[in-house]
Amino acid sequence: MRDENCIFCKIANGEIPSATIYEDETFRVILDLGPASKGHALILPKEHFKDLCEADPAVTAKILPLAGRIGRAMKEQLGADGFNVVQNNGGCAGQTVFHLHVHVIPRYEGGPSMVSWTPGKGTSEELAEIAEVIKQGL
Ligand code: AMP
Ligand code: ZN
Repeated sequence: MRDENCIFCKIANGEIPSATIYEDETFRVILDLGPASKGHALILPKEHFKDLCEADPAVTAKILPLAGRIGRAMKEQLGADGFNVVQNNGGCAGQTVFHLHVHVIPRYEGGPSMVSWTPGKGTSEELAEIAEVIKQGL
């Protein structure tokens, strides 16, 4: 299904032009208009899902293998030294376009640090308690 008001539906289905690096019946992979680094790519399913929670598992199951292929090409073709696979769900997590997408961000030695967090502290009791709560929803 598509959402007529969604820009990524239009890009994924070729209605709006994009710098496409890969396309098949399920996905279009484009370069991000605001790249975090040279070659920053977005994997867009052609079908509209708001986020990972709403997505068809048959589609999402294909994303990591594709991200691996793209990352390998970034290393071989662009000389990237590594890459991050990032996927944001919800505004508080940084999602700004509400059509499921996965960032593949090439990383270059000496480049800026981007995907990071400050490690906190969790006691084993706290972790066990939180684990029990999450488990109830799986
Ligand atoms: P997120 O913050 O995870 O929702 O990521 C949205 C990404 O889409 C951002 O990195 C934007 O730079 C990128 N973006 C937004 N509009 C376009 C567009 N028309 N073409 C390519 N990338 C876009
Ligand atoms: Zn969409």
